Amino acid sequence: MRMEVIAVGTELLLGQIANTNAQWISRELAHYGANIYHHSVVGDNLTRVVESFEQAKQRSDVVIVTGGLGPTEDDLTREAACEVLQDELIEHEPTMNKIAHFYKKNDHQMTENNRKQSHVLKKAKVLENSEGMAPGQIVEANDATFIFLPGVPAEMKSLMNDFVFTYLTEKYQLETKIKSEMLRFIGIGESTLEEKLKDLIAQQTNPTIAPLAGEGDVAIRLTASGKHPERKIANMKTSILERVGHYYFGSDSITIEEAVQDLLVQKSLTIGSAESLTGGKFIERVIRLTGASSICQGGLVAYTPDAKQRVIQVPEEIITRHGTISSECAEEMAIQAQKLLHVDISISFTGVAGPSSSEGHEPGLVYIGIKANDAPAEVIQCYFDGSRDKIRQRTVTKGFELLFH
Ligand code: ATP
Ligand code: MG
Repeated sequence: MRMEVIAVGTELLLGQIANTNAQWISRELAHYGANIYHHSVVGDNLTRVVESFEQAKQRSDVVIVTGGLGPTEDDLTREAACEVLQDELIEHEPTMNKIAHFYKKNDHQMTENNRKQSHVLKKAKVLENSEGMAPGQIVEANDATFIFLPGVPAEMKSLMNDFVFTYLTEKYQLETKIKSEMLRFIGIGESTLEEKLKDLIAQQTNPTIAPLAGEGDVAIRLTASGKHPERKIANMKTSILERVGHYYFGSDSITIEEAVQDLLVQKSLTIGSAESLTGGKFIERVIRLTGASSICQGGLVAYTPDAKQRVIQVPEEIITRHGTISSECAEEMAIQAQKLLHVDISISFTGVAGPSSSEGHEPGLVYIGIKANDAPAEVIQCYFDGSRDKIRQRTVTKGFELLFH
């Protein structure tokens, strides 16, 4: 089956707008295994639109046309279609009523031009446009099927989604759409993850399994096609999670902070932070989330030893005996934050972001403290590589990872 896309509009030829309609249609149809052989653009000129439709009729089975269905003089798609498909225009009553209703409601005078948008080819199957006025039309002619859609991208997309994909898959037995799911993991490296799934990765073709390293997390993209792709994905996901489910925090666009938020909401727990080298980055990532107010009380940021005493109330003795880059200081920061912020769970960050050493410690040494409810505070010592920025970022991500596990 040969398909092509024609975009009508002089503004496209002038380079005033890009032909994103053709791009979107092609990309979506590629998922169905459809073959698009041509993209063309033609200006608002009757002779040339007719010419372009004639050519498409000769060489393609399906022609998708966008644009030129509006109310103005230069919207010529209907007229050209009548000429090429030897049809005539009739008024589509439901559309006419919709237009009349629109003008009445908005207290505007309807012009003769506006009527034009309700005109459809007599032979057309009319597709109701839920986003705008001009309906889509499908005309099955002898040589080719023409599908006419408005130029406005939102209207074109909604008509494609509401009618055209179904129409094409049924009529031309296209493949079911490809489905994919991105499984996200934290606390496990890419190589370890691949190692644990080695045999699955080696065997599988549908779904395919593609590991992708992220910043602090790792993802696996499962992509399936053919019949029931969602079932194929669900089965493979189950096999994968049987092995590495402990590290899985969610799918697709979820972030680790969202996964932590979901967990805290589920358990009705609140959180707060005491931050030194991260400078509030942790609490910023919490507060950025919609709905943060139900889980978050706030954060304390104190950079110098002096500020840690005054703002976070770390006892002077801890600082003089152990330094601020110490397990003891992280522990105390978490304990104080829990008290001062009245939260169930507090997390603290202290360490060396670099590039120079501090208190005799190399850049990248970080202590993260967590105090949860009445349990004693726990402190984890970590080393991170990279620039100052990377170390601070990795510290925060590690904090979310610890909270998640
Ligand atoms: P309307 O009924 O709103 O007038 P129409 O079917 O007449 O729609 P056009 O007038 O050709 O469509 O285009 C309307 C608007 O849609 C254009 O101004 C442009 O912003 C956008 N548009 C049209 N064609 C394309 C295209 N191929 N790709 C991206 N945007 C487009
Ligand atoms: Mg128009």
